[in-house]
Amino acid sequence: MPLPVVTLTARGVDRVTVVDQGPLPLTGGSTSHAPGLVFQVSPSKTMTQFATYTVDKFSGLDLDGAWCFKKVGGLEVATTAERLADLRRRHGWLTAWGVESTLVDPDECVRLHALLDRDRVLGGLHTPTDGLAKAARAVVALARRAEARGARFLGSTRIVSWRQASSKPQATTSVRRCAWFRTRKSSSHTSPATSRRRDRTSWQT
Ligand SMILES: Cc1cc2nc3c(=O)[nH]c(=O)nc-3n(C[C@H](O)[C@H](O)[C@H](O)COP(=O)(O)OP(=O)(O)OC[C@H]3O[C@@H](n4cnc5c(N)ncnc54)[C@H](O)[C@@H]3O)c2cc1C
Repeated sequence: MPLPVVTLTARGVDRVTVVDQGPLPLTGGSTSHAPGLVFQVSPSKTMTQFATYTVDKFSGLDLDGAWCFKKVGGLEVATTAERLADLRRRHGWLTAWGVESTLVDPDECVRLHALLDRDRVLGGLHTPTDGLAKAARAVVALARRAEARGARFLGSTRIVSWRQASSKPQATTSVRRCAWFRTRKSSSHTSPATSRRRDRTSWQT
């Protein structure tokens, strides 16, 4: 949720409103609880670039001193000849997309991850800039940044329909044209006033 709004506000778009049916800042969506691992390898250059963007963005973030991304490195291991050939292919993708990685022998795999069985591993692909994201922390840090640049956040508000206010292309962004939402307070929350108070309080922690 906050990554696009941070990007928009960084580009000078200052009339952005983020609407979410859940409480802010952690809405209960997948990002609030699920993701953690960031592997950059992909046959798709675009997907690798998305992941690398995340690594770069999150590496420069902290939440009140707590880290948002730790480059612990990614290690994929092969226990069959076919899988080893596949790791070579994956190493080729990363090299082509400009991400540093190394094909490593079984000894190096065990040095990198001591729980591996040396006798079963044929080799590995090590990507040192892969890592562990604290998505919930990053959400709060990015949302604070966007809010400081003028973005508004509206929690506990469900979008029930939307319409485009103008068919004319506008120079600013499509955000304004799409900003006419009909909303309904989420039924799972007590009252609008309570929800807003709670959103505001948790927001600032
Ligand atoms: C168990 C699990 C583990 C995962 N592990 C990883 C991992 O290790 N690495 C990784 O990269 N990815 C992982 N993922 C995938 C990742 O979590 C998701 O791809 C990502 O969080 C999706 O982000 P999103 O912004 O698209 O969706 P969400 O974070 O779910 O955001 C969607 C938002 O839309 C809001 N919304 C929905 N309908 C409405 C409405 N009508 N009105 C207002 N608001 C509405 C919701 O409240 C929610 O906040 C994992 C996913 C799961 C489930």
